[in-house]
Amino acid sequence: MTETHTDLLARLVKLGYRVTPQRELLLAVLGETDKHLSAETLLERVRAVYPRVNKSVVYRNLELLAQLGLISCVDFGQGRVEYEVHHHPHHHHLVCRNCHAMIEINSDAFADIQHGFLETYGFAAEMDHLALFGLCRDCRAQMPVQLSHHPHTL
Ligand SMILES: [Zn+2]
Ligand SMILES: [Zn+2]
Repeated sequence: MTETHTDLLARLVKLGYRVTPQRELLLAVLGETDKHLSAETLLERVRAVYPRVNKSVVYRNLELLAQLGLISCVDFGQGRVEYEVHHHPHHHHLVCRNCHAMIEINSDAFADIQHGFLETYGFAAEMDHLALFGLCRDCRAQMPVQLSHHPHTL
């Protein structure tokens, strides 16, 4: 079920945080899209409304909203951190290192792994939004060489 930005604001208040114009705007922007947005894009959107806003304040607010679980944050590598509202059921991303294509996958794929960690290590892994890196089908087809275990050597 889609959470509207009003629901998100209500949750923010319930958690004991103030609804500042900036937090409201960030949640509104993220609530309107079903895409991930980078911190840079979000900063641009905020600056369109509040031109003098401080970059680090926007980034701190994004971190806060992510920590509170109102938005989720995923690290796509190479400094690309993106944010989204939990619109659809939990999902993960397969990210191609070569062409940066992204494939969205159902989180069910990880249910067994998560369960395995719990059984074996008694560890409850938080796997609600992951980016896994590798090579997509197209790129693999173009690269007959076997991918080594150390992508840094490529
Ligand atoms: Zn995602
Ligand atoms: Zn690729």
